[in-house]
Amino acid sequence: MYQPRTVWLSEVGEMAPLVGVVALQGGFAEHIEVLESLGTNTRRVRRSADLQGLDGIVLPGGESTVIDKLMRSFSLAEPLKDAVRRGLPVLATCAGLVVLATDLEDAAKGQHTLSLLDVTVRRNAFGSQLDSFEGTLDIDGVGDGVSATFIRAPVITRVGPGVEVIAQLPDEAGNVSGAIVGVRQRNVLALSFHPEETDDDRVHRTWLRQVSEEV
Ligand code: GLN
Repeated sequence: MYQPRTVWLSEVGEMAPLVGVVALQGGFAEHIEVLESLGTNTRRVRRSADLQGLDGIVLPGGESTVIDKLMRSFSLAEPLKDAVRRGLPVLATCAGLVVLATDLEDAAKGQHTLSLLDVTVRRNAFGSQLDSFEGTLDIDGVGDGVSATFIRAPVITRVGPGVEVIAQLPDEAGNVSGAIVGVRQRNVLALSFHPEETDDDRVHRTWLRQVSEEV
């Protein structure tokens, strides 16, 4: 599906970054496929030792309650938190956004978060009527009309002072118009949707360019 684009690396320098993808549950394989199609070296991250030497990390979608439990039982939660606090660039999608948030409106019983992104998130915000849908979004810093797949997606209902809103649902989105679906806070880029489920790789390209600038 994705054509290798090794040429693209010359745009950002010769060094291919090493990007970790948290691979406990959910859509990690799809992120790895996109990242590798763009010439990036990848590593599945399950334990704290896997964080060594990474230039960036992806928190994929899936089920945030399961990812939370596994991150804690694999003793990954605290070392991951430290790495992100020290500036490791993060791309979080869907459940990954839930995992990073400081506050959840409707956390499952016993659900923890890493509290790294100063936002409030409402899980499964579109309800069963609109479980999954595809659309296009204008994303600041990424581009216009970017393809986005929403799957039991969360929305962001509050953003803290250091958080920049980069994507909202369009005006014609009915009762969810204007909902915040993308934010950036320092080294964290977090999205409600799945850019890795589409053929549009602009989100990954943009994020990798930022990662490479830090390397
Ligand atoms: N609803 C899921 C959760 O709360 C997220 C869904 C997804 O990642 N596609 O974790």
